Amino acid sequence: MTNVQLQVQPAAVSDRPNLLGMDRAALEAFFIAMGEKKFRATQVMKWIHQQGVVDFEQMNNLSKELRSRLAENACISNLEVSRDVISSDGTRKWLLRLADGNHIETVFIPEDDRGTLCVSSQVGCALDCSFCATGRQGFNRNLSSAEIISQVWLASQLLEEEKKPGRKITNVVMMGMGEPLLNFDNTVTAVRLMMDDFAYGLSKRRVTVSTAGVVPAMDRLGDLIDMRLAVSLHATNDELRNELVPVNRKYPLKELMAACRRFIDKQNTRSRITFEYVMLAGVNDQPEHARELVRLLKGIPTLMNLIPFNPFEGSGYSTSSGNAVSRFSRVLHDAGITTVVRKTRGEDIDAACGQLAGRIEDKSRRHRRFTEPRFGMTQ
Ligand code: SF4
Repeated sequence: MTNVQLQVQPAAVSDRPNLLGMDRAALEAFFIAMGEKKFRATQVMKWIHQQGVVDFEQMNNLSKELRSRLAENACISNLEVSRDVISSDGTRKWLLRLADGNHIETVFIPEDDRGTLCVSSQVGCALDCSFCATGRQGFNRNLSSAEIISQVWLASQLLEEEKKPGRKITNVVMMGMGEPLLNFDNTVTAVRLMMDDFAYGLSKRRVTVSTAGVVPAMDRLGDLIDMRLAVSLHATNDELRNELVPVNRKYPLKELMAACRRFIDKQNTRSRITFEYVMLAGVNDQPEHARELVRLLKGIPTLMNLIPFNPFEGSGYSTSSGNAVSRFSRVLHDAGITTVVRKTRGEDIDAACGQLAGRIEDKSRRHRRFTEPRFGMTQ
């Protein structure tokens, strides 16, 4: 594990609009309201997201007068890097400080053919999945679109400074801290920026939004954007899923699977849904679970990711054995389901799936629920 010297400083906190988090439509509206032509929006997007420029003075294709008006009326404000560590396997994790003092985490995972950035959408998470360190932290608030896209901006800049081959963001997955679909509008704005040719220009197959199964928001998302969807499944029947992924009590598997089918129908051809399945020893990793999974996924174009459980203190779960994972994946393969057994990455820096915790002030009273008996029985 290596600690990295920090080089990026945040812009001063400001109550002026932060242009960093505006998508093209919002920036065009901003410039029109200033009495400017709307093409200024794409000029400024290129400066910010492609050139990494956050000082209006350096935007030399804008007039001097416009630059000074922008400096007076707007800002480009990033998160602050509190900690920056690189794992022995090349995974790099940033602990990022928000203006309110909370912290979130962002992780870059290099692989042979891609570099994936795992981005957070909320400060903590309210969904309380029983195997997830973020869920244990409780929930504080949604991230703004600027706070979401700032993670991509910072990671791009800091990886470029490494000047090493293969250290470039080619894919973004919204699988960090939080449930993106419970922060819907800001997530959609940030995703639009990730895919905009004047910002990060990622193709729709390289941007994935992950959900634990917020069914109405899945429908809305399918109506709005053509991109990849991942569903954190983790269980094959309602009884077990109610325990592992409590949002299942509100949107049970039958509704969730119907929403997946509707999502696929709305997307262009060759779409498929990625299903995430964390392997918990003796809980959900038996061959009968795999067979149940095959029945559940019938008719849905699927990429199945089997994820090794990454233990954290007090989780109460343990990692499935290699044999259990092989048996499980064989059942899926035999049924024609494309299945990938994920390797654990960034374990030595607590950057693996389900390990992101940040440092947050819990506003959900979840912690009190578990420590004070009078809350425990009644909520
Ligand atoms: S797995 Fe995702 S949805 Fe569940 S608690 Fe963790 S961050 Fe929230």
